[in-house]
Amino acid sequence: MRRRVRSRGQRVSTLAADMERATKCEVVVIGGGPAGAAAAARLASRGHSVVVLEGERFPRFHIGESLLPLGDKVFRELGVAEKVKRAGFVQKFGAQLLTSDGGHRVLFDFRQGSHVTPPWSFQVHRAEFDQLLLDHAVESGAQLVIGRATAVRLASDRVEVHYRGAGGDAGSVQAQVVVDASGRTGVVAKHQGVRIVDPELQKAAIYAHYRGVPVDAGDRAGDTRIVSLPKLGWFWFIPLKDGVMSVGAVLDMRDYQTRKKGDPAAIFAESMAAAPAAARLLATAERCSEFAVESGFSYRARQYCGDRWFLAGDAGSFLDPVFSTGVLMALRSGLEAADAAIAGYLSGRGSGAANAARRRYDRVLQRRYWFVRRFVTGFYDANTRDMFFSPRPALGVTRAVTTVLAGGFDLSLLDRWRVGLFFLLGRLQRRFNLVPRVSAPVATPVLETS
Ligand SMILES: Cc1cc2nc3c(=O)[nH]c(=O)nc-3n(C[C@H](O)[C@H](O)[C@H](O)COP(=O)(O)OP(=O)(O)OC[C@H]3O[C@@H](n4cnc5c(N)ncnc54)[C@H](O)[C@@H]3O)c2cc1C
Repeated sequence: MRRRVRSRGQRVSTLAADMERATKCEVVVIGGGPAGAAAAARLASRGHSVVVLEGERFPRFHIGESLLPLGDKVFRELGVAEKVKRAGFVQKFGAQLLTSDGGHRVLFDFRQGSHVTPPWSFQVHRAEFDQLLLDHAVESGAQLVIGRATAVRLASDRVEVHYRGAGGDAGSVQAQVVVDASGRTGVVAKHQGVRIVDPELQKAAIYAHYRGVPVDAGDRAGDTRIVSLPKLGWFWFIPLKDGVMSVGAVLDMRDYQTRKKGDPAAIFAESMAAAPAAARLLATAERCSEFAVESGFSYRARQYCGDRWFLAGDAGSFLDPVFSTGVLMALRSGLEAADAAIAGYLSGRGSGAANAARRRYDRVLQRRYWFVRRFVTGFYDANTRDMFFSPRPALGVTRAVTTVLAGGFDLSLLDRWRVGLFFLLGRLQRRFNLVPRVSAPVATPVLETS
């Protein structure tokens, strides 16, 4: 049996028959998306042997095209910042929120956040972006194997991941640690039974690429535009390079299910009719891809790691995409998983170090998840959404919120207080009409269980 393996520079080489025995490394990373690529690049650049098992041949389409400014810090840590800059992605200085009729528009400009450096990010074709990151991991010394992980064996002294290659051939990788970065598949997360579905954030997204959607002038041209929908759904408009616009509708799962007999195009058009501001943007546009649907997010992990395993990115948790936090959280957790693996297992400091590294990793990821979730659930609460639509610059609240929207999840004490005030105002809005009411209350149909 012969197997195709990608090594440095994405060169395809061929290994001899006994690959199962031959593939031993310190860390096996399942999945070569942003989380897996970040983990692998970090490990390899620190001199550790790492195998990335990726089920698909890159470049491949992936949704999740809007990045956040604080991602640049990760790019610099990985040594890939210049490559990302040179790729010619659309530069994004902020995000705009529009009411469904377009009558009310609010701008979050990253330049108004606290210490947001640089105060811009990118809108990316994920096929190209993910390829760039994975290539970087390989150039850093990671070994890429194209194969889909099918089983994981965890033992007290090692892990073993079995996989099936594109040609149906089987193999396995033996390592000291496994990082599960397999995205929503969550190979290890499911194996360990730690995934918990978030019943409050069950959504469905219908999306496609368009050409000919108008953009704003100057440096507002790269903004993400979010158009609010009745029943607290929303549309995204994300400008990509070469004149492509990613457009998607996110609907409450219950709302989506009541209409699921219709085809995605029909549900999309129906949603569009309820949002004249979105309809105007698409009036002269032409769709240049099929519609795709993703449903049934979000979830978290009861624990993000255990003995010899770490969950990074979507493999651990997935939060609704409204604030475009997914890729940044994936990149950061990829780096952190690599650091925890090094500190806990690869530095030979014994079980005390492993326990400490795991405790720290779990604490950091749990905290980050709950911090971001508060913003996401706030967006789906009509009163707090009203607050998003009515910035409060005088109290510094807008600055703090803008910092979070730029990916600043580790706030100063003062900014944490400001964020607390923002949510308090949202609660008060329920009773006192502090700001104009622009968000319709949620109608909650019964969730179908079949
Ligand atoms: C509708 C929607 C819109 C979104 N919009 C945004 C956005 O604008 N901005 C943003 O930051 N995020 C967004 N996200 C989230 C973003 O897509 C994810 O958070 C991000 O891709 C997570 O990266 P990851 O590396 O953890 O997983 P992925 O990017 O999913 O990578 C996982 C990789 O693992 C591989 N894999 C899976 N199973 C196996 C297996 N068994 N064996 C081997 N390999 C395997 C897959 O092929 C894949 O390449 C959005 C998500 C959705 C659903």
